[in-house]
Amino acid sequence: MKKLRTPIVAVLGHVDHGKTTLLDKIRNTRVIAKEAGGITQHIGATEVPIELIKEICKDLWPKNITIPGLLFIDTPGHKAFTNLRKRGGALADLAILVVDVNEGFKPQTEEALMILRTFKTPFVVAANKIDKIPGWQSFENQPFLKSFQQQDDVVKQRLENKIYDLIGELYKYGFSADRFDRIRDFTRTVAIVPVSALTGEGIPELLLVLVGLAQRYLEKNLRLHVEGKAKGTVLEVKEEKGLGMTMDVIIYDGTLRVGDKIAIGGVNGVVVTHVRGILKPRPAQEIRVESKFKSVKEVTAAAGVKIVAPGIENVVAGSEFEVVESEEDVKKFEERIRKEIEEVTIKTDEE
Ligand code: GDP
Repeated sequence: MKKLRTPIVAVLGHVDHGKTTLLDKIRNTRVIAKEAGGITQHIGATEVPIELIKEICKDLWPKNITIPGLLFIDTPGHKAFTNLRKRGGALADLAILVVDVNEGFKPQTEEALMILRTFKTPFVVAANKIDKIPGWQSFENQPFLKSFQQQDDVVKQRLENKIYDLIGELYKYGFSADRFDRIRDFTRTVAIVPVSALTGEGIPELLLVLVGLAQRYLEKNLRLHVEGKAKGTVLEVKEEKGLGMTMDVIIYDGTLRVGDKIAIGGVNGVVVTHVRGILKPRPAQEIRVESKFKSVKEVTAAAGVKIVAPGIENVVAGSEFEVVESEEDVKKFEERIRKEIEEVTIKTDEE
């Protein structure tokens, strides 16, 4: 069997609802779990190995998990996600929709939900900031259910009411949802996991539900490999001193090599260019006077890297790209992009 790749996870939600804090919390768990393998920094993404997630989840860990880990996109609320609606192509395999449980749904929560619905992206709702529920007693880094048990009845009820509000909001968008521990079939019901990104409460269950979704996703989508021609999504295009124009990308399929010819969906049609360099972040301990990047010859999915390539000035965040070998490949790519944009436009118009 071909080797499967790490699922890509996006963190979405309204501004200030806690996306960055949640990502930081997940990244910093390496401090708690020293034994487990380390976190790998990518360009625009963070890879959390499965052993580390297992360490965080401890006794809750289920059997039959074979995914190698999760790749979290670092820049929540990134342009690439809003561009998705217009340009097609799904950047992430899975998502965490962060909602401040005390504030409920806001415009960007709704926007994110619409994107997830259009692309049929499996997601879990992190009902964040439970520590701010009046009377809540925090138990740092504890599973939610453990912490919940120890709350006063009136506090429990306050949270339950907030969760019911979220269930009602999700229902309006056609999603059936419930608190994660009351769900039997996670393919039909969206899981709501109460968490505090600040205290770490509920993070074990959030990761657990995510890993469960990821596992099922990869079992269903066996076409995502680390071999074959690379496909990816552009996160950002920028000029780097001494390098010229570069683009930060997430590679979600195949292998990319220096010298590869690539086609990218630009503003004024498809841009065909070649990969002059592939750069990864240099580990902190290796940064001296040298560049903060390390040049590599090839990279396999899933990964976040910086690509140096000529002629990419007109490429925008959210664009798709793939390796092409012939004129015919370029034509096929153009056709694929055109179809994706059309599909998304029609779906968005239907709303
Ligand atoms: P983002 O805009 O969604 O990335 O939100 P941030 O992660 O920047 O969080 C916005 C503010 O909410 C910051 O002041 C955080 O410290 C705070 N915050 C985030 N998560 C929590 C939480 O679980 N509990 C509490 N009390 N504050 C939080």
